[in-house]
Amino acid sequence: MARKTYIVGNWKMHCRPSEASLLVGRLVKEIKRVPASVEVVLCPPVLDLVTVRAELRGHDRFKLGAQNIYPADEGAYTGETSAAMVKDLVKYVVVGHSERRHTFGERDGLIAQKMAAVLRHGMTPILCVGETGHERTSGHAGQVVSDQLESDLTLLTEAELHDIIIAYEPVWAIGTGESASAQDAAEMLEVIRTWFSVKHSLVLADSLPLLYGGSVKTDNAKQYLDIQICHGLLVGGASVNYREFAAIVDAV
Ligand code: PEP
Repeated sequence: MARKTYIVGNWKMHCRPSEASLLVGRLVKEIKRVPASVEVVLCPPVLDLVTVRAELRGHDRFKLGAQNIYPADEGAYTGETSAAMVKDLVKYVVVGHSERRHTFGERDGLIAQKMAAVLRHGMTPILCVGETGHERTSGHAGQVVSDQLESDLTLLTEAELHDIIIAYEPVWAIGTGESASAQDAAEMLEVIRTWFSVKHSLVLADSLPLLYGGSVKTDNAKQYLDIQICHGLLVGGASVNYREFAAIVDAV
């Protein structure tokens, strides 16, 4: 994968289809130009995907992502949506978001299956990893993230590992307004890079896109984008504010 700078907007559970339509219309107007080296990915709720895709027709500068999938292709899984179902609509899928892990109790075993399903259906997974506040203060942040990588990537082939994106998202920074310092973010991205170089190869470590996410706003986006090994941002709350999100895209 040619490494770009990624600005990913996770709308979480916001926007009914009519609101999604309005938001996309505003984003398209506000974000007039996206350089070829930048990939802007919108991840609306699954219910909005068809509407948003229709709104984005002719606006190739925006790509679509899903916030979650279930690993089985079909079956008795009430309330779930499979990778097979979204693959005609999206290019990316967020996997292992901290809200999935902590609010819905998703374990690494399921996350590993989701990673495999997304790749099996030709999409790119954006794997979120990150430590809780307690894990950070007790000095275990690096170990927690390394363990997540070990478990969540266990079903992937060496070739598939070249088609993934990793987002470092400290749990304590998600939706709290408390963002990681640029130094902490840089250290953790380096932990991730080192893990890939030791467990796999330097070539892989140096080619994977590594993103930061956690209370990114207009006024702090640049400090992460300036980190040499940070290749983009995963933006939650600020991504449903079109002016804020456009300003973050402009910060690249
Ligand atoms: C997220 O949802 O991935 C996220 C980083 O949220 P927020 O920007 O609101 O912290």
